[in-house]
Amino acid sequence: FSRDQIHNFAAGPSPLPEPVLEKAAKGLLNYDGTGIGVCELSHRGKEFKAIIEGAEANLRKLLQVPDDYAVLFSQGGGTTQFSSVFLNLLAARRLKHADETNYAPPTVDYVVTGSWSSKAYQEAVRLSIPPAPGAQPFAEPRIAATTKPAKFTTLPKADEYDFSKDAAYVYYCENETINGVEFPGPDSQSPYAFPFDRVPDGVPIVADYSSSFLSRPIPQIERHAIIYAGAQKNLGPPGVTIVIVRKDLLVDTTEAMKLGGIPAVPIQSEFKTLADNKSLYNTPPVFSIYVSALVLEYLLAERGGIAGIAEVNRAKGDALYAALDEAEAKGKLRVVVQEKDARSLMNITFVIEGEGREKEFLDGAEARGFRQLKGHRSVGGIRASLYNAVTLESVKALAEYIKAF
Ligand code: PLP
Repeated sequence: FSRDQIHNFAAGPSPLPEPVLEKAAKGLLNYDGTGIGVCELSHRGKEFKAIIEGAEANLRKLLQVPDDYAVLFSQGGGTTQFSSVFLNLLAARRLKHADETNYAPPTVDYVVTGSWSSKAYQEAVRLSIPPAPGAQPFAEPRIAATTKPAKFTTLPKADEYDFSKDAAYVYYCENETINGVEFPGPDSQSPYAFPFDRVPDGVPIVADYSSSFLSRPIPQIERHAIIYAGAQKNLGPPGVTIVIVRKDLLVDTTEAMKLGGIPAVPIQSEFKTLADNKSLYNTPPVFSIYVSALVLEYLLAERGGIAGIAEVNRAKGDALYAALDEAEAKGKLRVVVQEKDARSLMNITFVIEGEGREKEFLDGAEARGFRQLKGHRSVGGIRASLYNAVTLESVKALAEYIKAF
């Protein structure tokens, strides 16, 4: 097959824009006439410095990241951030209460709306385990709202959240990649919008944006303490994770550890170390950052910035959901997320009705060049991921197939 015969609906790692890949292939061999490939150049040399600084500047421009936030290029994927946000925010909390001799473990509030926020919550539970049996735990993780009883097919409504007054932080996942639920977009008046106003003043808000990063503007970015996202959906190849952190949360975790009451923080997880070293504390994932830098340039120059991207993503989602709703009315399939305001524009999940029909659907899709449509192994069914590099034409072609099936 050639690339133009294939429509790739992968959930991640996801497709990348072809002009970017062509440029990256050249850079891998010979970066900018240096005679050296980009992965063979020092990460402390002037060439890579320009790449990473350009990437940061373009990211700030695209998402309008305020100046009082640091943009970090970290490693270990989204999964490492499940631990890192806990560790850094617990350290920040400990330093804020430095004078307390009877330091009480804080609550940490999780909004659990799918597989990924569940995993993040479980990591907080694990890291809270006391240093010795019977000792005080490091934190008290709580579930502030969950849609688990509804099998993660919807989102909580504003009055269903129960935030604690003085949590070390509140955590949510903006788009649940496996289940296909996403908080409604910027400025939404929907009852499913994330209830920023209900979070007590001063409590830091953390958002996992891994699978919706750069798909549209981030609502109320300044209401967040930390926003993080693995690159491998809308930004670049796997290997780099962007962490946007409010600068007052870049704390010295060693000082916090000395006070006691928090777990040990590996140096790689400390946001301050990463920020102080401009994301070059250790060897960074050079190739992933390079391709991400090219994607950011491309999004600004060719895709009309974040407004242009959001418009196309809306059109893609509308086209596919319209076809699915039509097929559902005919009894052919079932859309997993029924509530329109809770539907993801990035990961669209559905189940084909009828014995043996799912295989038929997937075989037919394969024959027509539609790839990687099988749902996540934990939930089954079908999942079409419509990340930025998936074109409206590909989505329309899939919509036609669904209507005809
Ligand atoms: N959070 C979300 C929303 C994800 O979709 C994923 C992975 O797909 C992760 C976290 C975990 O990321 P990683 O695989 O980079 O550790």
